[in-house]
Amino acid sequence: MENGVTVVDHPLVQHKLTIMRDKNTPTAQFRQLLREISQFLAYEATRDLALGTCEIETPLVPMQAPIMDGKKPALISILRAGNGLLDGVLDLVPAARVGFVGLYRDEETLKPVQYYCKLPQNMDQRFAIVVDPMLATGNSSVAAIDLVKEHGAKDILFLCLLAAPEGIERMRTAHPDVPIVTAAIDEKLNDLGYIVPGLGDAGDRMFGTV
Ligand code: URA
Repeated sequence: MENGVTVVDHPLVQHKLTIMRDKNTPTAQFRQLLREISQFLAYEATRDLALGTCEIETPLVPMQAPIMDGKKPALISILRAGNGLLDGVLDLVPAARVGFVGLYRDEETLKPVQYYCKLPQNMDQRFAIVVDPMLATGNSSVAAIDLVKEHGAKDILFLCLLAAPEGIERMRTAHPDVPIVTAAIDEKLNDLGYIVPGLGDAGDRMFGTV
């Protein structure tokens, strides 16, 4: 981890990401690859979950075996593209509670406005993993994490597929306590706020809308 950011540079992740970036990759394959990569990202994101021990019996002997006994995870998806990461993360942490935050951009103020928020209860006792594939300007991620904090969460991680340096900077300034896990840090944002080289509009590519 460097400056709060972990890049999952595993060869399988990088290979799958290259296929996702290719504009000729069809929707179904894009979605499948996103699910697969999100499992690797979740593996990294949950690395520090607390372990205790419990007494079990193997077919040979009793033993004290490790078991997760820390804060329960909650996944918070930023609509709509965040939903593309949910299934892969849930493959690894199937008991996690899931919340949703919907934000749109006010065209006059250019600020994110909340139109939907449904979070699990007791966020103060959970490890919140906020998911959104693209950390671009960082505006929606920062606003979503503001909301999650307003609901009491103190232990938060942000998980994304691609990050722009501008988005990382914005997140580190607004929420220095929130580590970021990503598959790659790209070069820059373009004038329209897209990540370059990026992969285009993640929501459109995963849902087949244009
Ligand atoms: N959102 C996307 O879907 N793609 C980008 O490049 C930036 C934000």
